[in-house]
Amino acid sequence: MSTFKAPRGTYDLIPPVSATFLAVREALAAPLKRAGYGYMETPGFENVELFARGVGESTDIVTKEMYTLTTKGGDQLALRPEGTASVLRAALEANLHKGGNLPVKLWYSGSYYRYERPQKGRYRHFSQVGAEAIGAEDPALDAELIILAVDAYRSLGLRNFRLLLNSLGDKECRPAYRAALQEFLRGLDLDEDTRRRVEINPLRVLDDKREAVQQQLTGAPLLRDHLCEACKAYHEQVRELLTAAGVAYQDDPKLVRGLDYYTRTTFEFVHDGLGSQSAVGGGGRYDGLSEMIGGPELPSVGWALGVDRTVLALEAEGIELELPAPTSVYAVPLGEEARRALFGVVTELRRAGIATDFAFGGRGLKGAMKGANRSGARFAVIAGERDLAEGVIQLKDLESGEQTPVPLASVAEELRDRLG
Ligand code: ATP
Ligand code: MG
Repeated sequence: MSTFKAPRGTYDLIPPVSATFLAVREALAAPLKRAGYGYMETPGFENVELFARGVGESTDIVTKEMYTLTTKGGDQLALRPEGTASVLRAALEANLHKGGNLPVKLWYSGSYYRYERPQKGRYRHFSQVGAEAIGAEDPALDAELIILAVDAYRSLGLRNFRLLLNSLGDKECRPAYRAALQEFLRGLDLDEDTRRRVEINPLRVLDDKREAVQQQLTGAPLLRDHLCEACKAYHEQVRELLTAAGVAYQDDPKLVRGLDYYTRTTFEFVHDGLGSQSAVGGGGRYDGLSEMIGGPELPSVGWALGVDRTVLALEAEGIELELPAPTSVYAVPLGEEARRALFGVVTELRRAGIATDFAFGGRGLKGAMKGANRSGARFAVIAGERDLAEGVIQLKDLESGEQTPVPLASVAEELRDRLG
């Protein structure tokens, strides 16, 4: 062990678990690639003001969870706590919205940083796969994104997740609701922090996880009963499209989520096997965000799915992904001459697309065969000087133990056949 440890709230991804992690990331992204979303990458840090404005000054993310720093040049930066503000900033900067082909559909995958109290499923460094559809107001687009997330979870074999759905209204109907809610909340017995929140962002009080607060919230006015006709019709269409696609959902009139910029469709995926860190993904429509960060009016919708918690959800359901073995073939040379020649065969096999490893370090036959078995390879190719002089190598099936000589010129072909 070294004298250093991974920083608090972080963990390392190590084989073989790291292979599952990578496969989950790929599975979450796969449906997006089939639906016209283009890959996007943005820096791991941004101007702190982007998040302050884009995520919201009164959110936990901005007030408590952001890693901020001042550079030697005096710039105020923050490690990115989420993806949407960065992706929209980058899309606007590249003028993607001016191509005349809206919506602009983008996906991303990467590391995010939040200074949180670490616990299982809640880390200070975590991974998300996300998607954003920028510049269109169409219930089919909201439905598309939700369906793609459901398909991603299903492709991993997950079953015990639920979709919670709500509408947060828009600039027509939310102000009146906000006022009604504020009026109600001001009459409750709340601590000072929460009373301040009532004044700044009353909707987020609905999201308070504390039992004592939740009890007082029974009877709170719900946005559902205050939606304007346009929002009601829009939400109804989203629900119909989901139902038609075989996607079940639960109406959750108190679902508001942690970010300030959401309008209309809001959703969260929760998994029932994860204890209190149950949200595996979430998202919604954010029609006002572009203007908040200095762009034109661009109604948009998106989601972010947590990779770490999706891996935990697989564990909770006892699902083991069927991953291809990292190594199919393991090469074992007998003697120095053979070592050089067989190393050439290894390179050739790899170039032919066969995952091959080699007994490095001059171990004896016994040690090398142990290496072959540990590697998980299906076959070993073994060769000594005599084999090579005869132009063959010995191909050993590591499951049956059966060994056959194969002409050097056709090793790749033979292995490809046998590996299917
Ligand atoms: P929570 O309510 O659990 O704090 P959140 O609403 O802050 O979640 P989002 O900002 O919507 O989460 O991020 C989308 C997803 O990213 C979450 O559903 C979750 O799976 C994952 N995620 C968020 N924060 C963390 C974290 N600190 N550690 C691991 N995963 C996280
Ligand atoms: Mg959070």
